Amino acid sequence: MATTPLRVLIHGASGRMGQALLRLAAESPSHWQVVAAVTRRPPAQRVIDGVPFFAAAELSGAPDFDAAIDFSLPEGFGPVLALCAERGRALVSGTTGLEPAQRQALDAAARAIPVLWASNFSVGVAVLDELVERAARALPGWDCDIVESHHVHKKDAPSGTALTLGESAQRGGAQPRYASLRAGDIVGEHLVQFAGHGERIELVHRATSRDIFARGALQAAARLHGRAPGRYAMRDLLFDGN
Ligand code: NAD
Repeated sequence: MATTPLRVLIHGASGRMGQALLRLAAESPSHWQVVAAVTRRPPAQRVIDGVPFFAAAELSGAPDFDAAIDFSLPEGFGPVLALCAERGRALVSGTTGLEPAQRQALDAAARAIPVLWASNFSVGVAVLDELVERAARALPGWDCDIVESHHVHKKDAPSGTALTLGESAQRGGAQPRYASLRAGDIVGEHLVQFAGHGERIELVHRATSRDIFARGALQAAARLHGRAPGRYAMRDLLFDGN
């Protein structure tokens, strides 16, 4: 962890994740200093709790930062990626629903800056992902279904996490199917079911607080800053002994 606070730009600051990031960063001023908070629309107030706010259209005027943390929507992703590439700064993004062209742009930018995109920043989901691949490998021919549930405001479906879990199941030889539920204020639930003849395995992760994602993203930003250009994954930063 850095001894001076990491200067962070938070992109998507008025959203559910953005608000969690602002709150957690404010709780540890020795670790994180939010130098810019960016929202889609012009902010009602220019400075909130000492944090300067900018509209997406003003992104190029944001002050210098060490790392940007992006939890916005796919249409906001390109501009923040371009800003990080232009400034030579690290980007951590959890924005889901990206188009294939946006993923290619991420790979291209990774030649010049360190980038980490993850569909889920929780440690529990990283472990679930590992279990799903192992189960799929051990259960050839079983049906694999992934059911994800989120709050009614979530736009993309299946969730980015469900798709990541599905990729792991496929690596293990399964052919996953997806179902999505949008209900109430569910933070995020992922059930991976393997069904055979006369038996069934259910692997479930339930997130009850967005703080797990926000904390993971802040820690990822601190660990990404100063790294060589490249595309990083959560496991690279979690298990590298730093
Ligand atoms: P939200 O709708 O509550 O907030 C979205 C934020 O993005 C708002 O601040 C909005 O002003 C901003 N925004 C929208 N369009 C923009 C643009 N064009 N330019 C700049 N800013 C723009 O959404 P949320 O629940 O906070 O989730 C945000 C994203 O993070 C979604 O893609 C969601 O799926 C994803 N998410 C990822 C994880 C993870 O662990 N990877 C966890 C939770 C949510």
